[in-house]
Amino acid sequence: LAMEAAIEQERPRYIRLERIPQIMDSLRQAFQSGITRPLEWRLGQLRQMKQMMDENMDKWNRALMADLHKSAPNAFLQEIGLILTDLKEAIASVKSWMSPTTVATPVAQVKGITTSRVHTEPLGLVLIISPWNYPLSLALQPLVGAIAAGNCAVLKPSELSPNCSSLLADLVPRYLDARCVAVAEGAVPETTALLEQRWDHIFFTGSTDVGRVVYQAAARYLTPVTLELGGKSPCIVAADADLKIAARRIASGKFMNVGQTCVAPDYVLVDPSIEAALVQALKEVIPQFYSPYPKNCSDYGRIISARHLQRLQALLAEDAHELTLLHGGVAVDLDDLYMEPTLVKCSPQFQGRLMREEIFGPILPIIALPNLVEESIKFINARPKPLSLYVYTNAHATAERITGACSSGGFCINECVLHLQNSALPFGGVGASGMGMYHGKYSYDCFSHHRAGLDKAKIFDVDLRYPPYTDAKMAKL
Ligand code: NAD
Repeated sequence: LAMEAAIEQERPRYIRLERIPQIMDSLRQAFQSGITRPLEWRLGQLRQMKQMMDENMDKWNRALMADLHKSAPNAFLQEIGLILTDLKEAIASVKSWMSPTTVATPVAQVKGITTSRVHTEPLGLVLIISPWNYPLSLALQPLVGAIAAGNCAVLKPSELSPNCSSLLADLVPRYLDARCVAVAEGAVPETTALLEQRWDHIFFTGSTDVGRVVYQAAARYLTPVTLELGGKSPCIVAADADLKIAARRIASGKFMNVGQTCVAPDYVLVDPSIEAALVQALKEVIPQFYSPYPKNCSDYGRIISARHLQRLQALLAEDAHELTLLHGGVAVDLDDLYMEPTLVKCSPQFQGRLMREEIFGPILPIIALPNLVEESIKFINARPKPLSLYVYTNAHATAERITGACSSGGFCINECVLHLQNSALPFGGVGASGMGMYHGKYSYDCFSHHRAGLDKAKIFDVDLRYPPYTDAKMAKL
């Protein structure tokens, strides 16, 4: 009993496994009753979600501070602002998104008396599994799409951001229709049990390894999936790049949320002629952003757990003899989960863990590559397809050559990370960095079935289409 109590205390809020089928049944019944389909329900829920955001700003901020040391400006810029933008767009647009789109009809199908339309319908009961690094936006942005598209949903936030997870579990049922939307807190056993159920769509954001687990589980019922995964996003800095701009943008993309960002520049490939100048520019910009003491800077975050911090330390320590520290790499505080911004140099041939695993922390490897444009294409294409690709150059031809030759989920030229803030752009990976896309209208599409609908008048019933297909008929075709 004492042991059970201890487990309960450790995981007091996790969903009880035996309750999962019952919750699924009731959500499925709600979906089948049709309540989520009308525009009014969708709009009502989206407005409720907006109210949930607006009325609880202090609570969201406190939870993000407790889980990730995110200051209020960072919380807004990185998470809450994005959720509000998606909500605003969905509220303004869901009516038009729901309207069927009329498309062309081929002449052979008697154009004029036939109407062809693409309709959308909700998929049904969807599971949204989210990670800890942006624990609110990566849970709620997909939920905006799921609701706008008229689905019932279960949200499974990450157990590694427990404050955000429990706040979502508290607030979502109070603001949203509890017959149709549920939050299931839990870790691997709970997620595994959820994945054993029959879903109509699974939307997973997380690591490539767990993405494989999700994909395999989904195969059992042929459930469609969206996999928003990670990987090593390269950043190429050409000899003609504006170094001051490049350094500021790379550093802000990399050290935002201490590198725990799926689209953070993972490593830099730089033309050898400007390597020293780029390193110098980065070294100048880091204290400008975070003061000479990032530990005391409210804009500098923390690593999610001691285990994750130890992994980052190991990435540096294991191959120390092959790495040259250019900046930082020393100040680490396991109790405070702090790691300082770190720049390291390694050779293009370096094969250590730092260049095999997604770094997901404030360590930026810098690799000088002769014949940069062609060599970086080979370098990137020898590795799994990244989630993002960043090119800093003043020459359009260089940017086009690299982005044209290397596949990636998305790319930016002379920028990084910000493509995900434009909801008019699809956000998603390719190959090992994921499948499917969302944000803005793409989120609606992600959670909808696109359905062909053909509607034909009865006035003509052309004999030509019916058997027997005589030579005379065929001659007319
Ligand atoms: P993770 O894969 O460890 O966990 C994600 C979710 O899966 C969590 O809710 C977790 O509880 C669950 N989970 C973990 N192990 C599981 C298992 N064995 N079986 C079933 N469920 C399991 O990822 P993370 O550490 O939370 O997040 C970091 C990763 O997510 C990085 O790789 C990052 O690049 C990626 N990411 C991608 C995006 C994107 O939009 N593409 C955004 C953020 C993070």
